[in-house]
Amino acid sequence: MRRDKHSIVLKLLTRLNAKRMIGILLGLFMVQAVFLLYVERIRLQTADGDLYELTLVNYLLHMVLSFTAIGFAIYFYIILKNRGEGSKRAQHMPLISVFLIMMISAVIATLEQVTVGHITLFTAKLLVFGLMIHIKPHHQYYIYGVPFALFIIGVFAFQHSPDILTTHIINATAAFVGVMFVSDRFYRLKYDDLFRTLELKQKNKRLETLATLDPLTNLPNRRFFEKQLMYERAIARRYETTASLLMIDIDHFKTINDSLGHDNGDRILIELSALLKKDIRESDTLARWGGEEFMILLSHTDIAGAEIVAKRLNQKIEDHVFLKESTPTKLTVSIGAAPLTIQDDDNFSVSYRLVDQALYEAKAKGRNQTIIKITSTE
Ligand code: GH3
Ligand code: MG
Ligand code: MG
Repeated sequence: MRRDKHSIVLKLLTRLNAKRMIGILLGLFMVQAVFLLYVERIRLQTADGDLYELTLVNYLLHMVLSFTAIGFAIYFYIILKNRGEGSKRAQHMPLISVFLIMMISAVIATLEQVTVGHITLFTAKLLVFGLMIHIKPHHQYYIYGVPFALFIIGVFAFQHSPDILTTHIINATAAFVGVMFVSDRFYRLKYDDLFRTLELKQKNKRLETLATLDPLTNLPNRRFFEKQLMYERAIARRYETTASLLMIDIDHFKTINDSLGHDNGDRILIELSALLKKDIRESDTLARWGGEEFMILLSHTDIAGAEIVAKRLNQKIEDHVFLKESTPTKLTVSIGAAPLTIQDDDNFSVSYRLVDQALYEAKAKGRNQTIIKITSTE
């Protein structure tokens, strides 16, 4: 159960990362494009001597970074579309793209120590990715740690001014440690938040199910049935359709319970539920009304149709052998049938009274039969 939730939370995190990652990558691509056009290009044009080659390499690296960003954004989009956020690839993509982009940025920052001498772009990416993308803490140490180590080595090697070197190292290390700490916190907070929200949703769903399902037969209970009645009545009023009710009660169930025991009685109720369910349409609603009574709402069915269904059920049940494997048992049911009265009150008292009277008559007339009632005898 916990593992199920864990994998759902990971999927939610992947979805969150995916959306952000695509946004960040597109943003990065645009910033890089502007940078290439308006800053790096001019730098390249004005560079001379030894610096020209380095500036050219730097220019090309910026280009590689732009294409990596846009390439990953497109690839990421395709993966999400085709494989979904549950796929391993979708989960690994943010890690791979962050790592590669950070590595390229570390090389660029290193080379820039010779030309412009700043480290802003590297630390900016570290901040944006670290704060926006939720990466598992133990993964993030490699994903940010390796490019950071490369960056530090590069800056040491290429930055010849001791003052600038010290400032860069202090600033970058502070940014790195801060990002690692905050990103670790963010990940745990987000994980717990999603986990708790999921738990709450699942609990609510369970409660909702419990409130509308009968635990023994798993059929809808009276509460659910009445919602369906409301809906059916609204449809009937709006489209001038008809619907019917069947009330089913097992004949002499007390005797069956007394002779076979309550547990077998329960098993019979479960078996009967399945039998009834199999024989009606998917658009009909079967509910356990109480004890050994069931109610069926026959949608879009007039009383003549209801009579056919009810009689077929009588026959089916009469022919069926219950508890075939252990204690083969035969039983019958009595059925009352009545139309759903559309001008009925919200308690459906007219319709219920009719169907109840019909069932009562079916019992009185000898059971194992269906009686239809269209108007009340009272
Ligand atoms: P009738 O033909 O008049 O309906 O006779 P009956 O014995 O079925 O009478 P009634 O409908 O009054 O009896 C209901 C019996 O159904 C009482 C109880 O023993 C049994 N019953 C009700 N709910 C359950 C249940 O959840 N499980 C089991 N095993 N038996 C139940
Ligand atoms: Mg009864
Ligand atoms: Mg009964």
